[in-house]
This record gives sequence, structure tokens and C-alpha cells, in this order.
Amino acid sequence: MTSNHRRRLLGAVVALPFANGAFAQDLPLTPACGPQAELTPRQTEGPFYTPKSPQRSSLIEPGSKGERLLLTGRVVSRQCRPVAKALLDFWHCDQNGEYDNAGFRYRGHLYADAQGRFRLETIFPALYPGRARHIHVKAQAPGRRILTTQLYFPGDARDFLWREELVVAMERRPQGRLAAFQFIVDA
Ligand code: FE
Repeated sequence: MTSNHRRRLLGAVVALPFANGAFAQDLPLTPACGPQAELTPRQTEGPFYTPKSPQRSSLIEPGSKGERLLLTGRVVSRQCRPVAKALLDFWHCDQNGEYDNAGFRYRGHLYADAQGRFRLETIFPALYPGRARHIHVKAQAPGRRILTTQLYFPGDARDFLWREELVVAMERRPQGRLAAFQFIVDA
């Protein structure tokens, strides 16, 4: 992590006012927005995107033994304005590093609230050969261009696609991992 990145993290601690007490912690949103805010970088969608995922805020499968991950954050414009009802469509591999290409396991979309906030419950995706650990996502302000990207996790091995601007803030909790990210989109 560069000192510049660390400064941005420290300068951007935002309360995440979620009711779930087990996870109600403050995490810095990465990246911060501000006068020099840049759009969240685009990345390839890869070979495993499936359109028309179900709308839901939890991807956890019944009986899943995967480590829990709660990903929260905001969707904002370059001017740091919340993007109400922004669409976020997530997909990632399961605890064995496999994608469900027949159905919708670990696939789902949701809409940010009026303050641009979102909350996704899922599992910590496994590493699979050749890639840094990641979650795929498409983000879209209402009526605007879709931004396809991938989120990464701190402390993991990097790969050719890994970018610091796409690394979530993350803490380990007894209940699982708590992560936060701020999408900066055209709005
Ligand atoms: Fe992938």
C-alpha cells in the first residue's frame, strides 16, 4: 500500500449505519471521493458473467460452510454525491473456486438505497488458479453506462489484473469478514 493510498484511507472513515450489530463497525471506504476522485477503474468481465441474476442482498447458500463476508459501501458520483438506486450486479466463485455457470449460485444484483449505500452478504470467495482473489461486479447509475470491474482483497497474492484502487477495506471478525468499498461512477 502506498503512503498516498493510506492517507486516502485514513481520511475517509465513514460510519456504516447498518443495523446488524454483529457487523456494525466503521471501516474506511476505499477509495475516497474528493476533488480529484477518479472513476472506479473498469476491468474485464471475464468468461463467467451470467445476465439476469436474481435480485437479492444475500448470496449465502443454505448450509454453506464458506467463511461469511459482508461487503458494504456506497455508490457515489465524481462529486461525491450519493447515487440513489444504483444497480450493483455481483458474481464470484464458491468456496471451491468454481463458478456456477448453470444457475445463479453466488450471483445476484441489488440496488443502492437513497443514500447510495449497499449491503451484500455472501461468502469469502476462494482463490482459484491463475487469479488474485476477487469479486466481479457491474455498477450502474440509473440510465447511465454500466461499469464492469472486479474487487480485490488486502493481504492476498496479486495478479496481472490486480489494482490497488480496487482493493476493499477489510477486517476479520469472529462472524466472518467485514469489507467496504466505494464505487465512483458516472452519474
Ligand atoms: Fe473471476
